[in-house]
Amino acid sequence: MNYYKNKKSVRDIAVNGKIVFLRCDFNVPIDNLGKITDSKRIDESFKTINYLLKNGAKLILCSHLGRPKGTVNPKLSLSPVAEYISDILGETVGFSTDSVGDNAKEIVKKLKAGEFRICLLENIRFEPEEEQNDTDFAKKLASYADVYINDAFGTCHRSHASTEAITHFLPSAYGFLVEKEILSVSSALENPERPVMAILGGAKVSDKISLIESLLDKVDILAVGGGMTYTFINALGYKVGDSICESDKISFAKDLMAKATEKGVKFLVPVDLKVADEYSENANFKIVGADKIPDSWMGLDIGPKTTEIFSEEISKAKTIIWNGPVGVFEWDNFSSGTKHVAQAVSSSGAISLIGGGDSAAAVRKFGLEEKVTHISTGGGAFLEYLEKGSLPCLDSLSEK
Ligand code: AMP
Repeated sequence: MNYYKNKKSVRDIAVNGKIVFLRCDFNVPIDNLGKITDSKRIDESFKTINYLLKNGAKLILCSHLGRPKGTVNPKLSLSPVAEYISDILGETVGFSTDSVGDNAKEIVKKLKAGEFRICLLENIRFEPEEEQNDTDFAKKLASYADVYINDAFGTCHRSHASTEAITHFLPSAYGFLVEKEILSVSSALENPERPVMAILGGAKVSDKISLIESLLDKVDILAVGGGMTYTFINALGYKVGDSICESDKISFAKDLMAKATEKGVKFLVPVDLKVADEYSENANFKIVGADKIPDSWMGLDIGPKTTEIFSEEISKAKTIIWNGPVGVFEWDNFSSGTKHVAQAVSSSGAISLIGGGDSAAAVRKFGLEEKVTHISTGGGAFLEYLEKGSLPCLDSLSEK
């Protein structure tokens, strides 16, 4: 696992009087009227923005928003973000309607001339070269600035021009938000307090195969829930009715449980389930043993015995990593398992690391956000970091 101790952080790089290209993650929901409906991601960037301004830097902010796939889409413009930042800082934020065109050159000229201290480039993914990690495009972006800072943890697993290629043309470092993410993973995995428990849920096993494999080397207890449960239950020799089951992953699930035994990892598969007669919020439901799922019923949550077993293990764990809800938590009738897991994690006193969009959403839904140690801002990036132990856009930053 690389904790990037050899890489420069924003504290290790001179910024006074410099123009800093700051890659942020401003991928926030914006409604049809151009109103930002959840500013959390922007708000989390202010620590680095304020630090840089206070230390005498001028800033060129850059981000993507949504998936415009290399074409201009006015609905995905970052202009509301420029207004928001301007309101919060109480100063002008120059906004460029392109990222490497005439307008960007004009705005950067004004920044250099001192008309404002901070500007934002338009959605970088309007340019096809961004996702192609194009060298010439990255060189153009780099030509505006003296220093590059990456504070967009959520995109650190994607080598794009503004996250990877650009690091080859400027002295570079990571920002405070990225630092917090790295530190939280290191507190959970580098000499962790044991026992370490991972709880994995979500829809599919296939999405998480390499994550499960890599966690087997790091944890003492691994509990599975959610849609992936049924591939394991099937691998144990039981019928799963109409539950989600990936038949091509059954032998993998068997191997995995055997590997867990070999490595001395306690592998918890649900022993009872809440099954429904259709995939619907208002379906009829009942509790059954994991070996007794009726034909044409489907499991949509873990059952009370399983909840008790999971909660008991969670209460003994000293370090917890949780990714993925253990049931269809969006529907009240099937949210109980996820709610109990969230409550058990938040009251365990353990170091708790929650990552992946849906488990984070679940913790927020149950109002427990303040009671866990860390909720990662990066779904895919968080999982890839746990799986592979490194992220390409951090690998390429300048050494200390
Ligand atoms: P993921 O994006 O892989 O983390 O999956 C999250 C989604 O899995 C959530 O929207 C849940 O509703 C869904 N999910 C959880 N448990 C089940 C289940 N037993 N059957 C179907 N979907 C599920």
